[in-house]
Amino acid sequence: MEWSGYAGKVLEVDLTSGSITINELDRDMAEQFVGGKGFGASILYDRLPAGCDPLSPENMIVLATGPLTGTSVAASGRLELCTKGPATNLWLDCNAGGSFGPELKYAGYDVLIITGAASEPVMLVIEDDDVRLVSADEYWGQDTLETSRRLKAEFGGDYRVTCIGQAGELLSPLASVQTEYRSFGRGGAGAVMGSKKLKAIVVNGSGGLRAADSAKLDMMIREAANELANSPDTGSARPEFGTNVLLSLMEYTGIHPNKNFQQSTLEGEPVTELEVSRYFDRSRACFACPIRCSKIARVKEGRFKGAFTEGPEYETVWAFGGHCANKDIPTIIEAEHVCDAYGLDAVSVGNVIGFLMDCWERGFITAEDTAGLEFTWGNVEAMIEAVHLMGKREGPGMDWSMGVRYLEGIIPGAAGLGGHVKGLELPAYDPRASKAMALAYATSDRGGCHLRSWPISEEVMVQNPLGQHTLEFKPEVVKGQQDFYSLINSSGLCLFAAFVLTMEQIAPLMEYATGLPGLDSADKLIAAGERINTLVRLFNLREGLTADQDTIPDRFRTDPLPDGPCKGETVDVAQLVSAYYCLREWDSEGRPTEELLNKLGLAERSAASQQ
Ligand code: SF4
Repeated sequence: MEWSGYAGKVLEVDLTSGSITINELDRDMAEQFVGGKGFGASILYDRLPAGCDPLSPENMIVLATGPLTGTSVAASGRLELCTKGPATNLWLDCNAGGSFGPELKYAGYDVLIITGAASEPVMLVIEDDDVRLVSADEYWGQDTLETSRRLKAEFGGDYRVTCIGQAGELLSPLASVQTEYRSFGRGGAGAVMGSKKLKAIVVNGSGGLRAADSAKLDMMIREAANELANSPDTGSARPEFGTNVLLSLMEYTGIHPNKNFQQSTLEGEPVTELEVSRYFDRSRACFACPIRCSKIARVKEGRFKGAFTEGPEYETVWAFGGHCANKDIPTIIEAEHVCDAYGLDAVSVGNVIGFLMDCWERGFITAEDTAGLEFTWGNVEAMIEAVHLMGKREGPGMDWSMGVRYLEGIIPGAAGLGGHVKGLELPAYDPRASKAMALAYATSDRGGCHLRSWPISEEVMVQNPLGQHTLEFKPEVVKGQQDFYSLINSSGLCLFAAFVLTMEQIAPLMEYATGLPGLDSADKLIAAGERINTLVRLFNLREGLTADQDTIPDRFRTDPLPDGPCKGETVDVAQLVSAYYCLREWDSEGRPTEELLNKLGLAERSAASQQ
C-alpha cells in the first residue's frame, strides 16, 4: 500500500547471522498501536521469549519512529527505543529527540529491529536500501563523543549517529545510548547494545514523506506552531531556561528533594534557573523544533574550565546538585559531560553518588570501600572521580555502576536507604510532597520515572490545582496522563510540545498526516494509548512483575519530611494503587480483566502468549 506519514517499511537486522531483511509495515499494527512505543510493545510482546536475560542474544532492540516523526509538524523528531531493560528486568522504553529518527524515516524505515548478538564489535550503516554491518573494532573502547565525531568525519556531517560508550560496552545497567548529545538515558539500554557488541548505528536517507492531506496538515501545523509560540511555557520559559524552569517552583512547593531524600532544604539559598542559565552558551533544537529547549552550557573559568554539555537538564542539576548537597554548577556541568562521554544515565549516576554519601554519613561505608574517596556531602572531587570509576567500571566503580538496588543489597545497613522503584532510581520529585507523583512512580512501567506521568502539573501548575496532599482524583490524573504520554511517545511528537497542545489539535495532525481511519479522532488515539499501556502491563506480568512491586520505598511512608513547606508529610501509596487498579479495570493482583482485554482487542493476543 502507499503510505502517508509512515515510511512503510520495517528493517530487521540479526547480528548473530548477519542477515538483513526488509518487510512491509503492518497496517493493523499502525492503526492499533500508532508507532514508537506502541510498535515496540506490539513487536516485543509477540516475539520476545518470556524470561529472557536482557543481556543475552535473545533480547531485542526496537527503534521505532512515529507517524509524525520527520514531518513538518513542530517538535516531531522523536524516536523510541524499546527493549527488556537490565536495571529492572522488565519492560524498558526510552524516547529521544535529535535527528536520528527523521533520518531513519528518510532512509525508508519506520522501525529498526535488532536481534541476536555479534561475536565481534560491529556497527550498522544504513544508506537507504544499502544496509550493511561493518567492523567497529577501531571504535570499541572509545567514548560516545569521540565515536560520534569520528563517524561523522568518516561518513559525512549529514549522517546521524547513535552509539554507546564504555559503560555500555562493559554492560552497566546504568548505561545510556547516546544520539548526538541526546540520550536514551534510563534503564540500561546501552548495556543491551553492548551485549550485542553493537557499537553504533549510522544512518543517512535521501527519501521524503508524503502527507494524506497536505493542505489541511499545513493548516493544522500553523495552528499548532502559533499555540506553541504563544504559550508562556513553550513560547518563553522553556526556550529561556530549558527544563531548569522547574527549579524555583519545585523548591517553593517542597517537592525538590535533597541529600538522598533526607530533607527538603539545604543551608543557604537554593540553586535557581537564573543561576544555571548564566552558563548557557547557546540554544539548540531537535529536528523541526521551534521551542529550542536544549541548552549548551559551558564552564569558562575555574577548575572545570572548558567543560561543556547539552544541558544540564533539571534532573541532572538535582542528581549531582541537591541530591548530593552540592550547589556548584560547574561541577554539575562536568559531571553531565563525563556521563555523556561514557554513555551513562546522569539521573541514576547522581542517585548512586548521593546514596553513597548517605551511606558514608551513617558509617555504612568508609574509605576502605571507596578507593580512598571521601563521600562527605557535597564533596565534588569525590563525585567526579566516582563518575569516572563508574564509566570505566574500575575498582569500586564496578559495583557502583550496578545501581542503587544492587548496592542496597551489598552494603550492610543500607537496605531501604535507596530511592528506586523496581530497580530504577527515582528522579527529582519527593513523593511525600506530591501524592500523585508517589502513584506515578509506583505504577510506571519502567520503574522510578517521571516521564510516564508527571501529575505535579495538575497538583500545582493549573488553575484550581488539585493540591499536593489530597488523594482525590490522583488515580484519574495518573491514568489519564499515562495513556496520553504513551500515545505521544508513539506519535513522534515531543512531550514538551504535547503538554501545550490539546487532543483536538493533535488528532487532526495525525489524521491529515496518515489518512488512517484508526487515527482520526481524539477518542481513538487515547484508546490507543490505553491499549499500549495495557499490552506493556501484560509484558511486565509475563516477566514476573507482581502487585507488591507497584509501590515506592517504605521510608516515604515511615519517615516524615523533616523540613520545608511539606514538613511532617509521609505517603502511603497502597490506597492510591488500589483505586488506580479499579480505574484501570485491573483485578486486585494488578492483572487486566478479560473485559478490558476484549474492549481493547488484546484478548486473543494475551491468550496466545499464555499457551
Ligand atoms: S522541546 Fe526540547 S526536547 Fe522537545 S523536541 Fe524541542 S528541543 Fe527537543
